[in-house]
Amino acid sequence: MTDSTYRIRGETGDWEVVIGLEVHAQVTSNAKLFSGAATAFGAEPNTQVSLVDAAMPGMLPTPNKECIRQAVRTGMAIDAQINKWSRFDRKNYFYADLPQGYQISQLYHPLVGEGRLLISLDEKDPDADTKEIGIERIHVEQDAGKLMHDQHPTRSYVDLNRSGVALMEIVSRPDMRSPAEAGAYVRKLRTILRYVGSCDGNMEEGSMRADVNVSVRKPGEPFGTRTETKNVNSVRFVMQAIEYEAKRQVEVLEDGGRIVQETRLFDPDKGVTRSMRSKEDAHDYRYFPDPDLLPLELDDAFLEECRQSLPELPDAKRQRYEQALGLSAYNAAVLTAEAETARWFEALLAESALVQKKGEAEVAKAAANWLISDLFGALNRLGKDIGESPVSPAQGAELLGLIADGTISNTLGKQVFEIMLETGDGAGTIVEERGLKQTSDTGAIEAVIAEVMEKNADKVADYRGGKDKLFGFFVGQTMKAMGGKANPAVVNELLKKALG
Ligand code: ADP
Ligand code: MG
Repeated sequence: MTDSTYRIRGETGDWEVVIGLEVHAQVTSNAKLFSGAATAFGAEPNTQVSLVDAAMPGMLPTPNKECIRQAVRTGMAIDAQINKWSRFDRKNYFYADLPQGYQISQLYHPLVGEGRLLISLDEKDPDADTKEIGIERIHVEQDAGKLMHDQHPTRSYVDLNRSGVALMEIVSRPDMRSPAEAGAYVRKLRTILRYVGSCDGNMEEGSMRADVNVSVRKPGEPFGTRTETKNVNSVRFVMQAIEYEAKRQVEVLEDGGRIVQETRLFDPDKGVTRSMRSKEDAHDYRYFPDPDLLPLELDDAFLEECRQSLPELPDAKRQRYEQALGLSAYNAAVLTAEAETARWFEALLAESALVQKKGEAEVAKAAANWLISDLFGALNRLGKDIGESPVSPAQGAELLGLIADGTISNTLGKQVFEIMLETGDGAGTIVEERGLKQTSDTGAIEAVIAEVMEKNADKVADYRGGKDKLFGFFVGQTMKAMGGKANPAVVNELLKKALG
């Protein structure tokens, strides 16, 4: 079990933290959950609002099949029960960003039932130290609009662009026991959503945010009363909020106080949570089935289509990279952590002429190492994502091919790559135009070796006298004299002969 030993030390002994997360993930879809209005991020306020979203009298909601499809696919990806019969309910409350006066959500019969997610705290080997986190349900609901208080000294405005956008609320069981586990859960969930393509996982833009439920207890005791910190929008903040909130609760309890079930807000500048309001119960919202909407009934053909459309998921892909391609656990984890990286890596293999001759496993290790150290290194320097790489998978494959067949050495390969980044030219062209081809011409290499030995007669004597370590020096000098263009294997062989 992962991190089961995280404890908060109090005056009366050690306390255990219990965490459950409700993640709101914006469904990737061109239109809203019940209207045809657009959902693009960053549009001018109130330019993506249909009459349904503005709750004009008599307007009726029509479910968007794509949003349902994405939620079902997400459920399948976390191995969850898909409910063929589900229903929408009205959650009634007043707030100025909610023109309907209710949110259409699902309480009694959610679309997706129980599922699970496997987390690990071991970044080097995600199969090593795993823990299963239960997922209680995923339901589909509408987002609200946004109030803007910073546009005018005495007025507030409302932007309804987000009103009616489809959200999936993914509710975990209270199975996490440390900030690190909660962080791993959010990251893993985000990875899966991005693989499935049901949410872009962009936490800065608010496409994914978490309500963080925290309670503390003495180990072995029943669960304590929880607080819920709303709308936390980064993995780091989720972890900070838990840490702060757990310590606060321990202090209250050790001072003889009681935890009140309440809704809190996280202040990212100070790293603290603050009370917002006492928590309402479900019955306060007067939930009832929405009379404007029929229950959702899914048929087998639709479910089958959803299942068929699922990609290979991150864990399966990672294990395949290890087993079939022979990659290290760490490299496989790095390459599969983002769907985009895995796509790039697979395109690199697909473009490789060597793969066609020798098979993926022959080429995969060198390709993985190059992508993780050279390409990632360059992208880091340039501040670019892999999707914006100035070098394409086909160009990468050409470069790796030239290294693999001995046309250029590994060291020269790095230089050629730098030139590719600068000029956008292909590796073959660069090698040709700049005369970088590696030589295996034994005559030329022998001549250089003779020169090197002549200049370093003292070292030759030392070597022959037993200083074996000097061999590397001769290799270096010879390579340097040949501008790095000699085939290292040939240099080694000829040097051994010449030095005797
Ligand atoms: P609500 O919808 O009112 O927020 P739920 O019963 O759906 O309440 O639970 C919400 C979340 O709170 C779930 O993620 C659940 O795992 C978590 N949770 C429930 N009880 C506790 C507890 N004692 N400590 C921490 N988290 C809890
Ligand atoms: Mg809640």
